[in-house]
Formats: sequence, C-alpha cells, structure tokens
Amino acid sequence: MMHTLEDCKNQAVKMAQEIYQEGLFFSTWGNLSCRFAPQQVVITPSGIPYDELQPPDMAVVNLNGQVEPCRCKPSTELLLHLEIYQARADVRAIIHTHSKFATVFAVARREIATVTEEMAQLFGGDVPVAAYALPGTRELAARAVEALGAQGYGALLANHGVVCVGQTLEEALQRCQVLERSAEILLWSHLLGEPFRLPPEEIKTLRENFLKYYGQGKE
Ligand code: 13P
Ligand code: ZN
Repeated sequence: MMHTLEDCKNQAVKMAQEIYQEGLFFSTWGNLSCRFAPQQVVITPSGIPYDELQPPDMAVVNLNGQVEPCRCKPSTELLLHLEIYQARADVRAIIHTHSKFATVFAVARREIATVTEEMAQLFGGDVPVAAYALPGTRELAARAVEALGAQGYGALLANHGVVCVGQTLEEALQRCQVLERSAEILLWSHLLGEPFRLPPEEIKTLRENFLKYYGQGKE
C-alpha cells in the first residue's frame, strides 16, 4: 500500500529496476511515473543508470508542470506523462519503454494486432502507432494522447518505443510485458504466413471474462 510520498518513490524505484533488469528499458532510455495524488505525480529522473537509481532521485511534479525542488532533473519525457494524466483521469501509472520487439513494430509503424489471449484480456484490442514526433516534445505527448484515446491502454511511439498505462505500476508493467511478448510472437508467426487476428466479438468476450473472472477475489 502507498501511504506516503516516500512509499510511492520506493515502489517506483523498485519497479524501474525490475523493468530495467527484464530488459524493457534500454540503458538509461525509458521512464515511469505514478500518480501520488490527483494533481501530483512521481517520475523517474533523466539519464540516470537504473542500477544506481535511489528514491531521492525521483522527481515530484504537479500536473501543471511545476517541479518540486529535487537533486535530479525529471525525465525528458515529463510532458508525455503529464499530458496523459491530464487527458485520462482513470490513469494512475505510466511506463514508457524502449523494449526491443515492440520497437521493431514502432519502426515499421505497424500496430500490434490482437492475436493472443493475454493481448485481448489486457488491452481489449490492437495497440496502435502514434504519429511520429521528436522525443520529449509536446507534439509527441499530443500524438500519444491521440493514439491512446479515451480507453486505450497502450500505444507505440513511431521510431521510438512504447507507452502503457494502468491503474497501478504493476498493471502498466504487465501490459508492457504482454505487448513485448505479443510483438515477438507476431514477428515469428509471420514466418509461417499471415497471422490470424482474433475476431472483435472474441476479443470483447475475452476482455469481459478477464475483468469478471480472472484472478483471485472474483467468482
Ligand atoms: P529520460 O532518461 O530523460 O527519461 O529519457 C529517456 C527516453 O526514453 C526519452 O524518450
Ligand atoms: Zn524514449
């Protein structure tokens, strides 16, 4: 449970290091944030090696962009994170990765189609490509917000990487993992011919059943 800002920073650092060790971040590229309060977020610093990251390096920022005094400069993708939080009240955590296989699709500017159960369950549909814009710009943030729409949970950033959102960092991470695995599976499946996409009604049922029944504490 996250009770204090310190808990929030500790959890964010733990998650960032886990993501780095899994290889979804590349070197110092990739970043994450979580909402501590409706108008306040905690975000990773820019360009710090993840294995050296410490909780006091995390920046605290208001949704209007006001950065609290901190020993580190926040991520250069701060605007990407802030604009998504502004646009989506349901989003409480954001992870931007440079994971390899999803980036292959981002470079080819091809959406990641819904071809597996877990893709349908966690995303409820295809993951689109946001139009290209320079990293760190308001333009990139606007294109990502546009691609995510009112209900999307992930988008590819053209020639760049991935952004996934969730109600928690764990949920956003699981989406990044599923997206990366789906990208790798899709790529391999092309060797055997055109992959079958799940039909829309099947995707809808998979998502609904996941929300209703999957995991503990449900029927
Ligand atoms: P930061 O190190 O500034 O978070 O930026 C990395 C990145 O992914 C830029 O797009
Ligand atoms: Zn990036």
